[in-house]
Amino acid sequence: MGIKENLETIEERICAACEKAGRARDEVKLIAVSKRKPFEAVLEAAEAGQILFGENRVQEAQEKIPLCPANLHWHLIGHLQSNKAKIAASGLFRMIHAVDSEKLLRLLDEHAAVPLPILIQVNVSGEGSKSGCAPEEAAALVEAANSCSQVEVHGLMTIPPFTPDPEKARAHFSNLRKLRDELQESTGTPLPELSMGMSNDFEIAIEEGATLVRVGTDIFGERVLTG
Ligand SMILES: *Cc1c(COP(=O)(O)O)cnc(C)c1O
Repeated sequence: MGIKENLETIEERICAACEKAGRARDEVKLIAVSKRKPFEAVLEAAEAGQILFGENRVQEAQEKIPLCPANLHWHLIGHLQSNKAKIAASGLFRMIHAVDSEKLLRLLDEHAAVPLPILIQVNVSGEGSKSGCAPEEAAALVEAANSCSQVEVHGLMTIPPFTPDPEKARAHFSNLRKLRDELQESTGTPLPELSMGMSNDFEIAIEEGATLVRVGTDIFGERVLTG
């Protein structure tokens, strides 16, 4: 199956999940995750009408984005190291998903010349990947973002530990949504975006309130494990 057909299948799956959840299709955006795929794959997806793409490494994105059509939108979805904050904030990305420390917030704010939407990554499961702040640290990060001049917090992001059974991720997704609701209440900050769900579990994430789903493998095929 080609990328175009894969995108059509994903679109059908998103529509079905939205319908099941009683949500409108336009409440959910698909991010096509092109990490470790050549720019030609991005072109193919762009020709099929996909506009929004995600990359997880600054350096790879920095090389790939200039080779792609200028009308595409890019999100940085992966963990960001502080020594890459300057480039990440330089206008390559429309949104940065994995901000999990005040240090990173301040660095992005210092280097961004125009408003920079970000999401706070929360480790809701307390296990698996070490990136993401603890749920109880999220309020302080929202407040810190509110004191920034360019950085704007738009919501939360999470990556639950991988499990072959996507139902096991449901509780993590619903916990992220509950945390979002509490934070909106306690900080008075609108947090409309919930970035959650990947190839394996995006339908469940949509049922639990995802507004941004990050899908790589089911669009572009398996990635090679090097690099
Ligand atoms: C790679 C990646 C994805 C996409 O994962 P797939 O399982 O290939 O859909 C989503 N989010 C992040 C943060 C990633 O690094």
